[in-house]
Amino acid sequence: MGKEYVNCDRCGAQFESAAHGLCPRCTKEVVIVPKAEYDRLQERDKFLSCLEAAGVDNWEGYEDACAMRDVREDS
Ligand SMILES: [Zn+2]
Repeated sequence: MGKEYVNCDRCGAQFESAAHGLCPRCTKEVVIVPKAEYDRLQERDKFLSCLEAAGVDNWEGYEDACAMRDVREDS
């Protein structure tokens, strides 16, 4: 019985066994989160996209918000 190969769903690399349909390289980059948290993040992203489409970057508080984000990332 020969080895069976599958292709990674994400990067297309060929590998021997499937783990969530991803190759060992991509599996290292996968984060598993509860569905409720995933849904919450999706909703947040949807709303943020709406804000951006509505021109939130022209809002006077936008630069302050960017500065707050940068501080959080540094700490
Ligand atoms: Zn891959």
